[in-house]
Amino acid sequence: MADEIRNVVIMGAGCAGLTAAIYTGRANLKPLVLEGHEPGGQLSMTTLVENFPGWPEGIQGPVLVDNMHKQAERFGAEFRVGQVSAANLSERPFVLTVGKEQIKTRSLIIASGASARWLGLPSERALIGHGVSSCATCDGFFFRDKEVAVIGGGDSAMEEALFLTRFASRVTLIHRRDGFRASKIMLDRAKTHEKIHFMPNTVVEEVMDVQAKEVTALKLRNVFTGKVWDFPTSAMFLGIGHVPNAAMFQGTLETDENGYLKTRDYVHTGVPGVFACGDVADRRYRQAITASGTGCMAAIEVEKFLEETGH
Ligand code: NAP
Repeated sequence: MADEIRNVVIMGAGCAGLTAAIYTGRANLKPLVLEGHEPGGQLSMTTLVENFPGWPEGIQGPVLVDNMHKQAERFGAEFRVGQVSAANLSERPFVLTVGKEQIKTRSLIIASGASARWLGLPSERALIGHGVSSCATCDGFFFRDKEVAVIGGGDSAMEEALFLTRFASRVTLIHRRDGFRASKIMLDRAKTHEKIHFMPNTVVEEVMDVQAKEVTALKLRNVFTGKVWDFPTSAMFLGIGHVPNAAMFQGTLETDENGYLKTRDYVHTGVPGVFACGDVADRRYRQAITASGTGCMAAIEVEKFLEETGH
């Protein structure tokens, strides 16, 4: 219905958005959840999640988000697949453009997440969850006593490499040049770690073996000599940064120098009635549980906001 005004629209159906949907659903606010291009968020791309409290044996990432989805539906959340292309937040009700539709809402929770940056190789894509990962915390455990590779030269790559030394027998850090963006302290820590070996000026051309559905080697190329060779490894971890899905709010909401939404008091943006939670506003923790936690906070703030403004 074109004239319908929603109480709350939640942009994004990862951990943050789904938790916000459960809470606002239980508060009888009939939330509308807009599922973007990655329904389920980053968890839908992982395999076993072993650090979400309450699952002593672990739970598959896609199952976890599917459970949250069902839980939200049980409390009256409505789901719609759609990408918000524009948001007018200058007055209330806010107006969101989704395809040809205009959705009016009294409050908005932005939980659009962040997407890992990938190299963009088809073989990389095919092996995500089978040895290709962008999350050492999630998947490092599976490579106990194995040799693994980390791609990148910033703090994320150093952090991933250092974390992986807890499990892997050897970590090779592959970077496309010999200068590093990483902070000196992180770089020093990685450089002096006995398990970490640096391979600068090198790029990944292909991940093998797609047929076998597991990572067995990387085809590498030295950017100076042009030499190409197969480098045996059991896993490839990407540490080349994340991209917050907040580009459409540039100029409307405050973002930091990396494009993440800035919040105060945990989940408040600069616009009353607009809240941000999960990875779109968090470049530091980026965990399923922290995303759920801030999703809960945003939902409680929405309730308070609607109460104070008389809906
Ligand atoms: P970043 O600093 O932007 O570094 C990204 C790295 O990935 C760079 O070395 C870049 O290479 C490389 N890269 C990007 N695209 C690539 C591609 N297509 N192929 C190969 N390599 C590619 O990102 P980040 O490491 O995620 O850090 C982001 C921010 O978070 C930084 O401010 C960082 O300090 C902060 N952070 C802090 C911590 C910590 O303090 N514990 C941990 C994580 C992140 P080039 O250098 O050649 O461009």
